[in-house]
Amino acid sequence: MDRLRKEHSLMEHVLTLLKFADESNVDIETFIKMYEQGKVSLSLQSQEIWTAYEVIHFMDEMPGGFFIYQANKEERILYVNKALLRILKCDTIENFRELTGNSFRGLVFKEDLDRVEESIKEQIQHSQFDLDYVEYRIIRKDGTVGWLEDYGHFVRSEYVGDIFYVFVGDATEKKLRLQREKMRLLTEKHLKEQELQKIIDQHSKELKGINQEHLRRLEVIEGLSIHYETILHVDLDTNKVFPYRLSRRTEIQFQERIHNLEFDQFISEYAKMWVYEEDCERFLEATKAEFIRKKLKDNYTYQLNYRLKAAGEIQYMHLRMVDVGNKESISQIVLGAQAMDEEIRHEIEQRKSYEAALKNAKEANIAKNTFLSNMSHDMRTPLNAITGFTALAKKHINDGKKMGEYLEKIELFSDQLLCLINNVLDLSWMESEKVHIEKVECNLCDIMVGVQEDLHLQIIEKKVTVSLNFDALAHAEVYGDQEKLRQTILYLAGNAVKYTKPGGHVEIRVVELGQPGKDYADYQFIISDDGIGISDEFQKHIFEPFEREKNTTLSGVHGTGLGLTIAKSIVETMGGTIEVDSVLGKGSVFTVTIPLRYLGIQTLYDRGSEKDEIRPEDVNILLVEDNEINLEIEVELLQDMGFSVETAVNGSIAVNKIKNSTHGEYDLILMDIQMPVMDGYQASKAIRQLEDPMLANIPIIALSANAFEEDRRKSSESGINIHIAKPIDIQELLTEITKIVQNHSSSFA
Ligand code: ADP
Repeated sequence: MDRLRKEHSLMEHVLTLLKFADESNVDIETFIKMYEQGKVSLSLQSQEIWTAYEVIHFMDEMPGGFFIYQANKEERILYVNKALLRILKCDTIENFRELTGNSFRGLVFKEDLDRVEESIKEQIQHSQFDLDYVEYRIIRKDGTVGWLEDYGHFVRSEYVGDIFYVFVGDATEKKLRLQREKMRLLTEKHLKEQELQKIIDQHSKELKGINQEHLRRLEVIEGLSIHYETILHVDLDTNKVFPYRLSRRTEIQFQERIHNLEFDQFISEYAKMWVYEEDCERFLEATKAEFIRKKLKDNYTYQLNYRLKAAGEIQYMHLRMVDVGNKESISQIVLGAQAMDEEIRHEIEQRKSYEAALKNAKEANIAKNTFLSNMSHDMRTPLNAITGFTALAKKHINDGKKMGEYLEKIELFSDQLLCLINNVLDLSWMESEKVHIEKVECNLCDIMVGVQEDLHLQIIEKKVTVSLNFDALAHAEVYGDQEKLRQTILYLAGNAVKYTKPGGHVEIRVVELGQPGKDYADYQFIISDDGIGISDEFQKHIFEPFEREKNTTLSGVHGTGLGLTIAKSIVETMGGTIEVDSVLGKGSVFTVTIPLRYLGIQTLYDRGSEKDEIRPEDVNILLVEDNEINLEIEVELLQDMGFSVETAVNGSIAVNKIKNSTHGEYDLILMDIQMPVMDGYQASKAIRQLEDPMLANIPIIALSANAFEEDRRKSSESGINIHIAKPIDIQELLTEITKIVQNHSSSFA
């Protein structure tokens, strides 16, 4: 026992003391007191106990934390010094025991325990001096979490079994600092990462931009080079050629040799295979490296035209070379070959159209000059005649027979002159594109008969027959423009009479090409003659203005070359067509086809019941005219014809006269248009608005120097029944007066 005791080291004494106190479940102070009082006995000598007790005291006061625990399963803590209690914020050892369950595993933060125990085991196994170092979290008494640095020493104790001496330090501050540092580093790292990401993003964006730009440029190249069937990049220094685009032809050349075909080899093969023989030499010369260099020395581009032999046809090509390298040396060339067929064809067509335009302009000019000279001639002829016969009339003023002849001639030539002027006016009106087409009820048979009547004088003079044929006409009553239809047929029939020799025949035939179930039909007006005919060549130009096959001087037939132009224009405005078919010396056929809507009932030509004859002396006319001379002539003419005439010198006076008249006092008003105070249109409108219907409906005939279509339309809008152009045609006036008075009196009868 003694020997054993001696061998006990001081620490064994300390451990023994601690073990006994622990087994007695008291603290060391109490245990010592109990020992002094002899309540417990120990196998140690008193001196050993006191030394051990002093060591424990010393351990108690150590500035660093220190504890001892059993290295067994329980890991029970045998000793804890004050410094560790302070670290754990425990006031007493009881507090500590409560907090940790008095075991090492109760001291270590639960989640760190496995790692810590594993580490200790591992370290002790490999440590020469049975030392270990671990760090772990603890929960202090106040609930806060702290960190301990644990320097353990594994010791085999003979008396108390295996134990660990553990020196601990409060590593909370250090850990916090480390954590802060780590956080800082992490933040720094994060910031750097963000910065890096930014740079990467920026870089990718730039890269994307570059790619897009690259693509755009490629598109621009594609767009600009669309017409080039072959595009090559050539390095003149190395004699290398790189294809960018290949045509069917050049593709054959490259095929397998896409990377190793040399430029001069390519050119010589190309020339041999494709270039038109005559151009070969020039082509080869112009595509030599030295030649290209020379050409591109002062210019960026240089071009060459040549021809290709292509399936029996010649194809035009255009080769363009562009210097794309640096300025110092000319070596990098882009070469583009373009088929020029389209352009050259376009050029040829353009040239043709210019030539045609020039020819047209020249022809128009010739036609205009011819027209002017014809006009001058055609106007002079009747004018000459008028002045000549007037002079003759004056000379033979007392010879009634001669006077009669001269006046008739004067009248004839005045008519010719008037016709000429009317034609020119009509044409200028047509060309102004303001033609107005009426759609009113009219009878086609009436119109044809009217045309025949209009031609009466010419028919007699020329001794030709004009027959009418309505056999193929089912509906004579149509909606159309009576005046325009009459005018058109009159032009054609007039020509037929004019260009047919005495004894010849003219026929005006109306054919209806109806469609079942429809209320309209294509009406054909066929005017045929067995006259002089028209040459094939002239038929091509017959409807052009001022065109005449033979001028008046040559043919002796008066004309302007405008009638057919006007007729065609009217027909086309009505939605129809006009055609000519003629054989020189045999005769001509003019066919006008116009779509017209017809009235429901079948109304073959019917002249109607004979109306009562009108006697001029029964007709009272109010003549409204401001021009004194005209007034005088017109009064005399009308009175000569037997009418009784009253006058008014402006529209306003006329309106008053009518307003204050009794029924029947006036049968008709002849109204001038341009007048001071109130013009003819206004006056007519005012009359039409009179309250008394008998007065408001008095027939009005406009006698106007304004002969345009527009004037006729205005007249009709103002309520004027008929518009007659001045100078007055006595016969026409008489016919119209008779017609209108007759109709009016029958409608009011
Ligand atoms: P104009 O008869 O006043 O000369 P047109 O325009 O009516 O003018 O006719 C143009 C030309 O067409 C005439 O000059 C004439 O040469 C030819 N022509 C027209 N109709 C006939 C016809 N029925 N027979 C022969 N030639 C005609």
